[in-house]
Amino acid sequence: MRTSRLLLATLKEDPSEAEIISHRLMLRAGLIRRLAAGLYSWLPLGQRVVNKVAAIVRQEMDRAGAQEIVMPAIQPSELWQESGRWNQFGPELLRLADRHQRDFCIGPTHEEVVTDIARREIRSYRQLPLNLYQIQTKFRDEVRPRFGVMRSREFVMKDAYSFDMDAAGLAKSYALMHDAYVRIFERIGLDFRVVDADPGAIGGSRSQEFHVLADSGEDAIAFSTSGDYAANLETVPSAPPETTLAAPGQAMEKVATPDAHTIDELCQQLNVASSRCVKTLLVRAAQGGCIALVVRGDDQLNEVKASRVPGIKLPLEFAGEEQVRQAAGAGTGSLGPVGLHLPCYVDAHAAVLADFVSGANEDGYHLRGVNWHRDVALPEAMDLRNVKEGEKTPDGNGEIAIARGIEVGHIFQLGAKYSVAMNATCPDETGRAIPFEMGCYGIGITRIPAAAIEQCHDERGIVWPTAIAPYQVVLLPMNLAKSTRVREAAQALYSELSDAGIEVLFDDRPVRPGVMFAEAELIGIPHRLVLGERGLDRNEIEYKRRRDGAEEKVPLDQVVKWLRSLINTELLRVNA
Ligand code: ATP
Ligand code: MG
Repeated sequence: MRTSRLLLATLKEDPSEAEIISHRLMLRAGLIRRLAAGLYSWLPLGQRVVNKVAAIVRQEMDRAGAQEIVMPAIQPSELWQESGRWNQFGPELLRLADRHQRDFCIGPTHEEVVTDIARREIRSYRQLPLNLYQIQTKFRDEVRPRFGVMRSREFVMKDAYSFDMDAAGLAKSYALMHDAYVRIFERIGLDFRVVDADPGAIGGSRSQEFHVLADSGEDAIAFSTSGDYAANLETVPSAPPETTLAAPGQAMEKVATPDAHTIDELCQQLNVASSRCVKTLLVRAAQGGCIALVVRGDDQLNEVKASRVPGIKLPLEFAGEEQVRQAAGAGTGSLGPVGLHLPCYVDAHAAVLADFVSGANEDGYHLRGVNWHRDVALPEAMDLRNVKEGEKTPDGNGEIAIARGIEVGHIFQLGAKYSVAMNATCPDETGRAIPFEMGCYGIGITRIPAAAIEQCHDERGIVWPTAIAPYQVVLLPMNLAKSTRVREAAQALYSELSDAGIEVLFDDRPVRPGVMFAEAELIGIPHRLVLGERGLDRNEIEYKRRRDGAEEKVPLDQVVKWLRSLINTELLRVNA
């Protein structure tokens, strides 16, 4: 590609709409443009990256024996009624009516449609195992679309669905997908971890997520410092407290805390440790009203665990300031279990506190010396907290360390959840109708370029792994306009590189070398060649690697072969 012909839409200034580095760089390098909240256009350079990601995913899915299909983005409500999700799915599901007033949704995922295909088309157990996948546009009306294509409303997903007759078959199909995913992320060239996950709204039993490690990641992942344990923090069970409830030592008293709006301010004012306080949070109940959840002041509420509290409204929703005031007679900063007439659950670590501090359910006041049983009945204790670094892993093998991750893939063993609900069965050897054992497997195709940039960038711009770079090589001729020799040599080299199957961006614009260098670095092309008069005199070309700035002079007549083998080794790393 000649740069003069490319819609190169780089920006000099940092766009103000971007909060994280990948979003900023994707806008600055001209990969994407925002149309509306959570809706992005992919410009040529960006779309090339998306295509490369999709090609790797497609190859590995095919290699694992999955078959590509495409299902409609718009889905009829009847199928969602059958699975029960028409009513369960919250406002993330964008619903619409056609001209005949029939209800539809824009697919956020495709379990219903693919189960419908399976129940119509699969006639015999001999056709199994079967795995169908698609690379297709999804829509989820996210509460907070942000970070550009990282959490957008419209995005491209690869979703695959496996069908088996029994649990053993499902386990095999699942293992195949697990291994295909490992190959995909290794080939793309990212540092990733596979972690145990919560099956969430999709349902089912076993589930694992693939996370690209990056500080800006929205998820916390917990892993063992010395063992194999790795799980999304939201699913890690907390060990029970080591202490038991002690007898009261202090009398309960009400203290004025006019300036304490946070736990830290409260601790400072009363001179107590946050581990001696409790936080009380109100969430909405399914039947209306609120439920109170109590955790220790130094602990964080785990929302996945909280979603298992009986009677809670799903998805979990915190009560608004007004609802809190109505239910408790005070604002969120002054809540506590004493005198609170609401269903209440307490985290096991807060249930063993004696002489603790809590809100008084009166604005500007707290209670000191509170004791369970004596001052307030001890509510049912549950595991409601996030585990912390340094605690023992659930398998007892090492201590927990926590890193940030970006979820790029998710695999589930669904079991018969959808096949039973939608009566999708297949006759077994004896002719008995058996519901399919299903698995589903997603990859965020359009999230991957953003995740890759979060992991691979420097102060000058993007540093693409070669496997997904929009171009593999950038060829920068010096003084093209003035030097016939350079022009001819550069044109010849451009043709030779292209003929060797190397994807090269040839900067034939009449711009200053400084501009060429800066833009090539911003858009992150992994390999750079600079051709000038001086090099021609010596029959050599200057090579520079984007990743680490390593430089080399390469004989001009060998550079194509040399680059070809360099790129081949990069791309074939896990291909064998
Ligand atoms: P998240 O927790 O990030 O919302 P999810 O658990 O809802 O993800 P899945 O339903 O498992 O996601 O979808 C499969 C994959 O699709 C995810 O692993 C992620 O890579 C991608 N994905 C999900 N939501 C979005 C989004 N709003 N924008 C871009 N990619 C997304
Ligand atoms: Mg989601």
